[in-house]
Amino acid sequence: RGVNLYLIGMMGVGKTTVGRLLAKELGYGFLDTDDVIVKAAGKSINEIFVDEGEAEFRQLESDVLAQVCAYTKLTIATGGGIVLRRENWGYLRHGLIVWLDAPVEILLNRLAEDDTRPLLQDSDPEGKLRSLLEQRQSLYSQADLHITIAATQTPEQIVTCVLDAIPSVLK
Ligand code: ADP
Ligand code: MG
Repeated sequence: RGVNLYLIGMMGVGKTTVGRLLAKELGYGFLDTDDVIVKAAGKSINEIFVDEGEAEFRQLESDVLAQVCAYTKLTIATGGGIVLRRENWGYLRHGLIVWLDAPVEILLNRLAEDDTRPLLQDSDPEGKLRSLLEQRQSLYSQADLHITIAATQTPEQIVTCVLDAIPSVLK
Protein backbone atom coordinates (compact mmCIF):
# COMPACT_ATOMS: atom_id res chain seq x y z
CA ARG A 1 0.00 0.00 0.00
CA GLY A 2 0.97 3.63 0.06
CA VAL A 3 -0.12 6.75 -1.70
CA ASN A 4 1.72 9.64 -3.25
CA LEU A 5 2.92 12.42 -1.03
CA TYR A 6 2.62 15.91 -2.50
CA LEU A 7 4.71 18.76 -1.13
CA ILE A 8 3.16 22.17 -1.66
CA GLY A 9 4.26 25.65 -0.58
CA MET A 10 5.96 28.81 -1.74
CA MET A 11 9.08 28.91 -3.91
CA GLY A 12 12.19 28.57 -1.78
CA VAL A 13 10.47 26.81 1.11
CA GLY A 14 12.37 23.61 0.35
CA LYS A 15 9.91 21.35 -1.47
CA THR A 16 12.62 19.95 -3.77
CA THR A 17 15.27 19.63 -1.07
CA VAL A 18 12.98 18.09 1.55
CA GLY A 19 11.13 15.96 -0.99
CA ARG A 20 14.29 14.23 -2.14
CA LEU A 21 15.36 13.43 1.45
CA LEU A 22 11.87 12.37 2.44
CA ALA A 23 11.59 9.98 -0.50
CA LYS A 24 14.82 8.33 0.54
CA GLU A 25 13.60 7.91 4.13
CA LEU A 26 10.28 6.44 3.02
CA GLY A 27 11.72 4.27 0.26
CA TYR A 28 9.50 6.18 -2.17
CA GLY A 29 10.37 7.39 -5.63
CA PHE A 30 11.03 11.11 -6.03
CA LEU A 31 9.70 13.41 -8.69
CA ASP A 32 9.84 17.18 -9.11
CA THR A 33 7.17 18.64 -11.38
CA ASP A 34 9.52 21.48 -12.45
CA ASP A 35 12.21 18.94 -13.43
CA VAL A 36 9.76 16.82 -15.42
CA ILE A 37 8.61 19.92 -17.32
CA VAL A 38 12.16 21.16 -17.96
CA LYS A 39 13.29 17.76 -19.26
CA ALA A 40 10.22 17.32 -21.48
CA ALA A 41 10.42 20.86 -22.89
CA GLY A 42 14.19 20.87 -23.25
CA LYS A 43 14.34 24.38 -21.78
CA SER A 44 14.41 26.16 -18.47
CA ILE A 45 11.38 27.34 -16.50
CA ASN A 46 12.46 30.92 -17.25
CA GLU A 47 12.52 30.17 -20.98
CA ILE A 48 9.12 28.49 -20.85
CA PHE A 49 7.67 31.55 -19.09
CA VAL A 50 9.17 33.86 -21.73
CA ASP A 51 8.38 31.73 -24.80
CA GLU A 52 5.06 30.16 -23.83
CA GLY A 53 3.82 32.22 -20.90
CA GLU A 54 2.72 31.33 -17.39
CA ALA A 55 -0.64 29.90 -18.49
CA GLU A 56 1.07 27.30 -20.69
CA PHE A 57 3.47 26.45 -17.87
CA ARG A 58 0.50 25.90 -15.54
CA GLN A 59 -1.05 23.60 -18.13
CA LEU A 60 2.18 21.57 -18.30
CA GLU A 61 2.10 21.29 -14.48
CA SER A 62 -1.46 19.97 -14.56
CA ASP A 63 -0.46 17.46 -17.25
CA VAL A 64 2.35 16.13 -15.05
CA LEU A 65 0.03 15.83 -12.04
CA ALA A 66 -2.52 13.96 -14.13
CA GLN A 67 0.18 11.51 -15.22
CA VAL A 68 1.62 10.81 -11.77
CA CYS A 69 -1.84 9.86 -10.48
CA ALA A 70 -1.25 6.52 -12.16
CA TYR A 71 1.52 5.76 -9.66
CA THR A 72 1.81 5.28 -5.90
CA LYS A 73 4.64 5.64 -3.43
CA LEU A 74 6.08 8.75 -4.99
CA THR A 75 7.13 11.86 -3.13
CA ILE A 76 6.34 14.75 -5.45
CA ALA A 77 7.78 18.24 -5.10
CA THR A 78 5.40 20.62 -6.86
CA GLY A 79 5.78 24.18 -8.13
CA GLY A 80 4.72 27.01 -5.81
CA GLY A 81 1.79 27.93 -8.06
CA ILE A 82 0.34 24.42 -8.30
CA VAL A 83 -2.47 25.39 -5.87
CA LEU A 84 -3.80 28.08 -8.21
CA ARG A 85 -5.73 25.76 -10.52
CA ARG A 86 -8.86 24.14 -9.23
CA GLU A 87 -8.33 21.00 -11.34
CA ASN A 88 -4.97 20.40 -9.66
CA TRP A 89 -6.68 19.87 -6.30
CA GLY A 90 -8.42 16.81 -7.71
CA TYR A 91 -5.00 15.36 -8.54
CA LEU A 92 -3.35 16.43 -5.27
CA ARG A 93 -6.14 14.84 -3.25
CA HIS A 94 -5.24 11.56 -4.91
CA GLY A 95 -2.49 11.49 -2.26
CA LEU A 96 -1.45 13.10 0.98
CA ILE A 97 -0.73 16.81 0.81
CA VAL A 98 2.02 18.30 2.94
CA TRP A 99 2.22 22.09 3.07
CA LEU A 100 5.66 23.45 3.93
CA ASP A 101 5.29 26.90 5.41
CA ALA A 102 7.94 29.54 6.17
CA PRO A 103 7.92 33.34 6.46
CA VAL A 104 8.85 35.53 3.50
CA GLU A 105 12.12 36.65 5.16
CA ILE A 106 13.34 33.05 5.13
CA LEU A 107 12.21 32.45 1.55
CA LEU A 108 14.04 35.58 0.41
CA ASN A 109 17.17 34.46 2.17
CA ARG A 110 17.08 31.03 0.54
CA LEU A 111 16.38 32.46 -2.91
CA ALA A 112 18.94 35.28 -2.74
CA GLU A 113 21.35 33.67 -5.22
CA ASP A 114 18.71 31.90 -7.29
CA ASP A 115 17.92 33.28 -10.75
CA THR A 116 15.85 30.30 -11.93
CA ARG A 117 12.53 31.61 -10.54
CA PRO A 118 10.67 33.57 -13.22
CA LEU A 119 8.16 35.10 -10.81
CA LEU A 120 11.00 36.55 -8.78
CA GLN A 121 12.58 38.42 -11.72
CA ASP A 122 11.18 41.61 -10.26
CA SER A 123 12.61 44.92 -9.06
CA ASP A 124 11.01 44.22 -5.69
CA PRO A 125 11.39 40.48 -4.95
CA GLU A 126 10.29 40.88 -1.34
CA GLY A 127 7.08 42.72 -2.32
CA LYS A 128 6.50 40.13 -5.05
CA LEU A 129 6.87 37.22 -2.60
CA ARG A 130 4.54 38.94 -0.13
CA SER A 131 1.83 39.45 -2.73
CA LEU A 132 2.20 35.87 -4.03
CA LEU A 133 1.90 34.54 -0.48
CA GLU A 134 -1.13 36.73 0.19
CA GLN A 135 -2.75 35.41 -2.99
CA ARG A 136 -1.98 31.77 -2.20
CA GLN A 137 -2.09 31.47 1.60
CA SER A 138 -5.75 30.48 1.75
CA LEU A 139 -5.19 28.00 -1.09
CA TYR A 140 -2.21 26.32 0.56
CA SER A 141 -4.27 25.83 3.72
CA GLN A 142 -7.46 24.63 2.03
CA ALA A 143 -6.70 20.94 1.62
CA ASP A 144 -8.93 18.88 3.88
CA LEU A 145 -6.51 15.99 4.15
CA HIS A 146 -3.35 17.90 4.68
CA ILE A 147 -0.50 18.40 7.04
CA THR A 148 1.14 21.74 7.74
CA ILE A 149 4.83 21.74 8.61
CA ALA A 150 6.88 24.73 9.74
CA ALA A 151 9.78 24.70 7.30
CA THR A 152 12.15 27.02 9.14
CA GLN A 153 14.54 24.37 10.47
CA THR A 154 17.15 22.30 8.64
CA PRO A 155 15.97 19.99 5.84
CA GLU A 156 16.74 16.94 8.05
CA GLN A 157 14.63 18.34 10.91
CA ILE A 158 11.78 19.10 8.53
CA VAL A 159 11.91 15.53 7.22
CA THR A 160 11.63 14.24 10.79
CA CYS A 161 8.58 16.47 11.39
CA VAL A 162 6.89 15.18 8.23
CA LEU A 163 7.64 11.54 9.12
CA ASP A 164 6.14 12.13 12.59
CA ALA A 165 3.04 13.72 11.08
CA ILE A 166 2.13 11.30 8.31
CA PRO A 167 -0.04 8.25 9.01
CA SER A 168 1.88 5.04 9.68
CA VAL A 169 0.15 3.26 6.76
CA LEU A 170 2.31 5.34 4.45
CA LYS A 171 5.61 4.40 6.02
P1 ADP B 1 11.46 24.87 -3.51
O1 ADP B 1 11.58 23.58 -4.27
O2 ADP B 1 10.37 24.83 -2.50
O3 ADP B 1 11.37 26.09 -4.38
P2 ADP B 1 14.24 24.36 -2.86
O4 ADP B 1 14.24 22.99 -2.28
O5 ADP B 1 14.67 24.52 -4.26
O6 ADP B 1 12.80 25.04 -2.65
O7 ADP B 1 15.12 25.27 -1.90
C1 ADP B 1 15.43 26.62 -2.23
C2 ADP B 1 16.84 26.96 -1.71
O8 ADP B 1 16.82 26.93 -0.28
C3 ADP B 1 17.90 25.96 -2.14
O9 ADP B 1 19.10 26.67 -2.32
C4 ADP B 1 18.02 25.02 -0.94
O10 ADP B 1 19.31 24.48 -0.84
C5 ADP B 1 17.71 25.93 0.22
N1 ADP B 1 16.98 25.25 1.30
C6 ADP B 1 15.96 24.40 1.17
N2 ADP B 1 15.50 24.00 2.37
C7 ADP B 1 16.25 24.62 3.30
C8 ADP B 1 16.27 24.62 4.74
N3 ADP B 1 15.41 23.90 5.45
N4 ADP B 1 17.19 25.39 5.36
C9 ADP B 1 18.07 26.13 4.64
N5 ADP B 1 18.10 26.18 3.29
C10 ADP B 1 17.22 25.43 2.62
MG1 MG C 1 11.35 23.10 -6.26
